[in-house]
Formats: sequence, C-alpha cells, structure tokens
Amino acid sequence: MPQTTLSEDQELFRATVAEFAHDVVAKVAAHHDTTASFPYDVVRQMAEMGLFGLPFPEAYGGMGGDYFTLCLAIEELARVDQSVAITLEAACSLGAMPVYRFGSESQKQYWLPQLSSGSALGAFALTEADAGSDAGGTRTNARLEDGWWIVNGAKSFITNSGTELTKLVTLTAVTDVDDDGTKHISSLLVEVPAEGLVVEKAYDKVGWRASDTHPLSFLNLRVPRENLLGERGRGYANFLHILDEGRIAIAALAVGAAQGCVDESVAYANSRVAFGRAIGRNQAIAFKIADMEARTHVARCAYYDATPPRFTVGMAS
Ligand SMILES: Cc1cc2nc3c(=O)[nH]c(=O)nc-3n(C[C@H](O)[C@H](O)[C@H](O)COP(=O)(O)OP(=O)(O)OC[C@H]3O[C@@H](n4cnc5c(N)ncnc54)[C@H](O)[C@@H]3O)c2cc1C
Repeated sequence: MPQTTLSEDQELFRATVAEFAHDVVAKVAAHHDTTASFPYDVVRQMAEMGLFGLPFPEAYGGMGGDYFTLCLAIEELARVDQSVAITLEAACSLGAMPVYRFGSESQKQYWLPQLSSGSALGAFALTEADAGSDAGGTRTNARLEDGWWIVNGAKSFITNSGTELTKLVTLTAVTDVDDDGTKHISSLLVEVPAEGLVVEKAYDKVGWRASDTHPLSFLNLRVPRENLLGERGRGYANFLHILDEGRIAIAALAVGAAQGCVDESVAYANSRVAFGRAIGRNQAIAFKIADMEARTHVARCAYYDATPPRFTVGMAS
C-alpha cells in the first residue's frame, strides 16, 4: 500500500524539525539569503540534532533512520528556507551517501562518523561546463602515476564545496579510454584542503543564496591511489544511482517549498483587508489557496510513495 500518512514516531520527528525550522531557521533565513552567507550557526544546531547522520547506521555514527526520515526533515526545513534544506540534502545524499553505498569498510569508518556528526561536510562533484544533464560528457581526467591519481579538469555548481566545514569532495573523472574512444569514469575521494584543488569564487545565485556553491578546478591534483571509490570505471553508474535517490530528496524539498508558499498565502489572505474584509473570505482567493494545498498534498503523497521501501538505506544496492 502506498504510504500517505505518518506513523506516530514519524509525526513526532516531523513536528520536532518543524518547530526547529520555525523557531531557529526562519528567524535568520532572510538575513542569510540577503547577504548570501552560509548559516554556520544553524548548521551547527542541525548537527547537534543529529540531522546529518539521519539515514546512516549507528555503527558509523548515524542515527539509524532511513531515507524517508531524511526526506521528512528536508521538507520541513525547505518550508521556511530552501538553502538550509539543500545544505542538508547535499551533505547527506550527495556528500556521505556515495561513501556509504560504494566505499570500502575503511573508507566508511574514516568518513562516515565525521560526516554523520556534521563536524565535516562532503560535496559531490559531477557537473562540468559541458557535462550537466549529459554528465557522461565528463572531461576531467585522472591518470595513475606512482601510486597517485593525478587529476586535471574543472567542475561547475558544486554544493557545500567551499565552507569552513568542507572536508570531502568526491569527484568523477575519466580514468580509462578504450581504443574506440569509449571513456570510463571513476570516482575519487579527495580530502580537502588539497594542493591542486582550487575552490573558485562562489556563484552569485538568484535562489538558494545561503547555500554554498562554487566552481572547482583541479591542477595536477594528487589523490592517493586507495581513494578510488568503488570499482574503477563504475563511477558514472554509481553516481547515477546516487542521483536516483537524490531526486526523491529533491522532491521532498520541492514539496516543502510549495507548502511554504501555501503557508504564506494563507497568512496574507487572512491579514490583507480589502473592501472591509480579509481577502481570503472571497471565494476566488480561497479556491486558489485550496487548489494549492491540494496539489501540494498530492505531490507529498507522490514522494512518500516513492521513498520506501526501495530506498531504505540499509538495503543492498
Ligand atoms: C544551485 C545548484 C547547485 C548544484 N549542485 C551540484 C552539486 O552539488 N554537484 C553537481 O555535480 N552538480 C550540481 N549542480 C549542477 C546540476 O546538477 C546541473 O545544473 C544539472 O545537471 C543540469 O545541467 P546544466 O545546468 O548544464 O543544464 P543543461 O544540461 O545545459 O540543460 C539545460 C536545459 O536543457 C534541457 N535538456 C538537456 N538535455 C535535453 C534533452 N536531451 N532533451 C530535452 N531537454 C534537454 C534540460 O532539462 C534543461 O532544462 C548544481 C546546480 C545548481 C544550479
């Protein structure tokens, strides 16, 4: 049966994050958006709540929850601040999840406790100037030399890549080319700061302004051979898997944005008075808001239904 309602525990968790979003995040959202500044204090409090470790097992310092719980948190944060919501989304499902899904035991033990605690943020560097939707068009390349990967190239639009908390950048690079020109892409874990990895000036964005987004350049960046993540040549396939689950979390973020618009519309319709009464008392306005609420609810049901059980974190991928 599709899930359309929450269990008691899930509702309690949702309400706790909603209260935090209302009492803490919403209060400083406009400031961080206007100044395009990363909300370190909010992120620190999210870390204390355990949000960055939500979907990871306790053995790796996580909260032992599932992907659905993460989506609930993202929706409630997105309801008041998209930047904070995408910071959590990118940290968990793009920064830490590739290590959890494809890392060796020693890579998991090294990275996951710090990423789950929120003391370190991870970034996921796939997109390039000529490789966006067509991510297979990756030009960044890495060659093995004396036990090191030597990486050259550049990435665009990388979330969480330039904060003071950023400790990990997982990048994709072409590591092998067949005689017929077929390229094979692998992923590498880069501990930052690293000589040869240049974090370029942050983008001046129209939205998500408090979220940290930079271009990255790699100039003979040296990465230890053992930092290969997953199988050599499987980096592209593995990243597509990560993007698949990430789309569910982004759907939760979009539902949060829609619900935030409903919340604001209701508040405005109740407070704005015209012709002697609140404009929300006119059916034309009330119907519009009712339609918005109904559409948001349907979208929420769609992501609830899409999340479990296929994307339960504990499942073998
Ligand atoms: C704020 C922000 C944060 C980001 N964070 C990250 C990150 O952390 N890591 C990362 O790797 N990337 C990140 N990205 C990059 C993001 O994943 C890309 O923007 C996305 O993949 C689209 O690529 P593009 O911008 O090059 O658009 P393009 O690929 O140029 O697409 C432009 C438009 O053309 C359409 N289009 C493309 N191909 C087709 C087709 N075959 N048929 C029909 N329509 C088509 C697209 O749907 C789109 O509407 C981020 C982007 C932004 C804006």
